[in-house]
Amino acid sequence: MAGARANKTCPICSVREPVVDYHPFCSKRCADVDLSRWLGGKYSIPSAEPVDEFELMDALERERSTRQGAEESG
Ligand SMILES: [Zn+2]
Repeated sequence: MAGARANKTCPICSVREPVVDYHPFCSKRCADVDLSRWLGGKYSIPSAEPVDEFELMDALERERSTRQGAEESG
């Protein structure tokens, strides 16, 4: 078994061997590629824009005042 050597390569480019700093990638570039892939899959861009907190508060406030108005007149 002499000379048995882990023949691992960078999972992104499959060419170069991983370096300690960017393990298991061979370079920052490949690490970035993997990160963007991971983020792209994890945080897929939603079709609608995310609900804005202020917009939500505004909507609640409006609904509340609308109800109050309805109660007063009703
Ligand atoms: Zn690479």
